[in-house]
Amino acid sequence: MASIKSLCVYCGTSSRGSPSHLAAAERLGVTLAARGVTLIYGGGMIGLMGICADAALKAGGKVIGVIPKHLDDLEVGHRGLTELIVCTSMHIRKERMFHLSDAFAVLPGGYGTLDEVFEMITWRQLGLHDKPILLVDVDGYWKPLTALLDHVIAENYAKPETRRLYTVVDGVENLFDALAHAPQPKVEPKEKLM
Ligand code: AMP
Repeated sequence: MASIKSLCVYCGTSSRGSPSHLAAAERLGVTLAARGVTLIYGGGMIGLMGICADAALKAGGKVIGVIPKHLDDLEVGHRGLTELIVCTSMHIRKERMFHLSDAFAVLPGGYGTLDEVFEMITWRQLGLHDKPILLVDVDGYWKPLTALLDHVIAENYAKPETRRLYTVVDGVENLFDALAHAPQPKVEPKEKLM
């Protein structure tokens, strides 16, 4: 794939995960800044989200956050970003983040992270987009998830070729290599998805 201009990072609002997860969030922020790739994320100051955004900003990178008004307090909307887009709903947030991004990277996270990545995987399955989705498997965090997806395929609830909807990379250091090898998206993203 030709070099990307923006990367959406989905990750947790918790900072109580393993130190290796926190370090991965920081490394990704620094790497994005060094490569001149804009970070698109959920706009909060807390957890891995805040760590990644702060690292990118500190390293001179461009960061765009998208946060629904009702979460602006809860997830502490980051006022130091290049741009903070305050929107009206979770659905609009996900759609804005989708349209602003050339690809998606998934760091460790919780239910919200799972919701976000599955929406992107299922939209891709439906042919609504063809942007790369990379699960960053820091210390094997996503292994149980990929095992579940294999089980879903083994039980015939998804086709084996659905494995091509996402790519698993071992760590942040392998992310950009995987992106460079990802095929150029063939599908023009639909203007209105929902
Ligand atoms: P978590 O992984 O649960 O810490 O959440 C990560 C991010 O996902 C946070 O910014 C949450 O606001 C967001 N999130 C949680 N639930 C949803 C949802 N249903 N749709 C979109 N984003 C969500």
